This record gives sequence, C-alpha cells and structure tokens, in this order.
Amino acid sequence: MKILVCNAGSTSLKFKLYEMPECKVLATGKVERVGSADDAIFGYCSCRTGFNIEAAGECIPGYKEGIERFLGCLTGGDGAVLSDISQIERVGYKSVLSKGHYGVHEIDGGVLQGMRDFMALAPVHNSAYLNAIETMQAVLPKAKHVGVFETAFHRDIPMERRIYGVPFEWHEKYGIQRLGYHGASHGYIADVLNAEKKEYGAISCHLGGSASVCGILNGRSVDTSFGMSLETGLIHANRVGDMDPTMIHFLEQEGLSMEEILEGCQKKGGLLGISGVSNDLRYVLEAADQGNRRAKLAVDVFVTGIVHYIGAFFLDLGRLDYLVFTAGIGEHSDRVRNMVCAKLAPLGVKLDEEANRGCRGGAVISAEDSKVCVRVIPTDEELGIARRTCELN
Ligand code: ADP
Repeated sequence: MKILVCNAGSTSLKFKLYEMPECKVLATGKVERVGSADDAIFGYCSCRTGFNIEAAGECIPGYKEGIERFLGCLTGGDGAVLSDISQIERVGYKSVLSKGHYGVHEIDGGVLQGMRDFMALAPVHNSAYLNAIETMQAVLPKAKHVGVFETAFHRDIPMERRIYGVPFEWHEKYGIQRLGYHGASHGYIADVLNAEKKEYGAISCHLGGSASVCGILNGRSVDTSFGMSLETGLIHANRVGDMDPTMIHFLEQEGLSMEEILEGCQKKGGLLGISGVSNDLRYVLEAADQGNRRAKLAVDVFVTGIVHYIGAFFLDLGRLDYLVFTAGIGEHSDRVRNMVCAKLAPLGVKLDEEANRGCRGGAVISAEDSKVCVRVIPTDEELGIARRTCELN
C-alpha cells in the first residue's frame, strides 16, 4: 500500500511516500517559505532513481501549488515513482490535536471541526494542518486521509494522571485535561523497544525545539510532561513550559496586555527567555562556557526539568529498563545527556563517557554495570505516522 505522510508547518510542507508495510521510502519532498512569489524552496528526491531537485527562488504562492508540485514529481519526469497519483491509497498527517479525537482517525467533518474547536490551543499547527488537509483532500479525493494526532500515543494515560484539579465540569464541557504531544516520536521509540522486548519500563526524552519526557510501560505511554497545550512541561526553545496560571492574572494587573503575556509565553520564553541569547541550545551552551550566567541558568533549568520528570516517572513505572534520548538535542548533545545522567546515579544510571562522546546515530551509551540501559535512538516520526496510518482499519 502506498502511503503519503504529510508534515505541515505554517510556511512549510514535508512529504514522504512509503510502500507499506515494508516501510520502504519511495520519495521525499519539501517546500519551504510557502506563500512566497519568488523565494520559496522546493526539494524532491526519488529513492528509486536517485533523481534529486533542490531549487530556490521558486514561486509557490500556497499549499495547493506546493502539493501539486510534489505530486507532479511523483508521477512525471526522471524522478517518477508512480504512474498515477490515484495509486496513493492513504495520506497520514502528523496533525496535532482535535477536540474529542485524540487517537488515529480517518479525517471527516467532525475531526476537522474538532481541530477548529481547539484552535486556541495550537493556533499555528492547527491552521497549517486544516489548510494542508483540505487542500490534499481536494487533490486526492479517493484516498483515505488519516489524522495521526500527536496526542494519540498518550490516549491510554490513566485518568489520575490526566485530570487537572479544576472543577470537573471544565473537563466535561471544555475537554480540559492533560493530553500530551510528541506522540509520533515517543510512539516510534516504543516501536523500536517493542521489537526487542515485551515487558519493560522506559523513559523517552524527546529533546528538540520542543521537549518532552514520556514514561512507557510495555509499549504504552503512562505519563508525559506535556499538559493540555504545547506551552507546558519542560521549557522549550522559546516557549514557557509549566507555569503558575495565576501569574497571567498578576501580569495583567501589572499592566501587560494579554497579547504581550502570550507572546512572552509562546515566543519569547524558554531557553531564549531565560538566557537572552538564543533559542538554539548550541549557542546557549557556548555563551554559558564564556561565563554568561543567564545562559548557564537556562541550561540548568532545562536539565533540572528533565531530571525532575525522569524521577517522577520512574516511580509511576515501577521499573526502568531503558532511558532513551532522541530528537535534535537528545541525539546530538553528549553534554546534555551527560548532565542529565550525572544526576541519575540514585537510579543506578551509569554512563559510558566514551560511548556517549563518540555516539553518532543510535547507540547504547551506558556502562556495562549500569542498572538502566541508556540509549540514543534517532527518532523517525514519519515512519511512526506511516505505520499508524497503515494499521487503521
Ligand atoms: P524541532 O524540535 O524543531 O523539530 P530538532 O528535533 O531537530 O527540532 O531539534 C532542534 C534543536 O536541536 C536545535 O534547536 C538545537 O538547539 C538542538 N541541537 C542540535 N544539535 C545540537 C548539539 N550538537 N548540541 C546541542 N543542541 C543541539
């Protein structure tokens, strides 16, 4: 079955065409700076023929043109991998959230309405996906369109870890609850571990521009650091993470407008907000090394948060066989992995410093006598989406 996976950003689209269940990538594509009349970037790569385009200065005024350009490459020219776009049976989306639809769903009017209902919780993501899905549905009307919501992997988290201490009617009427994100990534990590072992406790640390920690018991998410929105849990590159809600009211009284407060939480917070240097951890680490105290503080807040959740989830899980690092920071920063693991000695975690420093791609980085196997596993969110899309009956 040919499955197209679509990842939509506010000004970008990424595609991967798979042959499933073989998990074989047939072609990849990307459009950056969608909306530009003369400065968009288009990329396409055919895994069958090796044909590759990387073009800048393109006119791609909207998602429709970007999608059509990619589909045109799939079916025509030297990089073609399909004889007709009708061969694409399913399209899977790395969609974020939809009120009342927290799993993997065939997209219909109700799912799209749920995405509109929760627009305020993920305004950038939901508007991008609504646009991408509606455009794709028009271009591929016969395909099955599947929303693999980022909340899906967490849908079995027990109620006692899901419910906030708010009037219960808020949960019933407005859907207020801890939902969790990065489901495609943590779910992919679980796929890798499931293939090796049936019964295990694992903690997956997805550390990228957004960061979250997830407790996994026997392949299922039992807890996660994200709450209801993406502005929760750990501090992120430029988003706030957990914060006392009363601060919002207080800041308003101090004279800040709601717009300024939201901007602070959603764009000017996190590593950037604390350090004042950058939202990119590499620059924050560099500044910390040069003696910048706020940069050092930002790194310490980030690491302390990760350790905090690992400690809590260890008790929730009751066992810890694997500690996994993934995503941009998790996969590439031996320094952050070292800082986190140094604080986990009480759990019997012992790093093999050399393996950690030399790690490129996936590896076990714990010492032989470590009680917990510490691993770096490069995430593959698209493959996770393709699998879930393929599994849907
Ligand atoms: P996103 O979450 O935006 O999809 P990634 O998972 O690719 O992105 O993570 C991007 C982040 O990874 C960057 O913000 C950068 O700070 C961080 N990063 C990448 N390589 C390193 C490194 N060697 N050391 C520290 N941070 C790194």
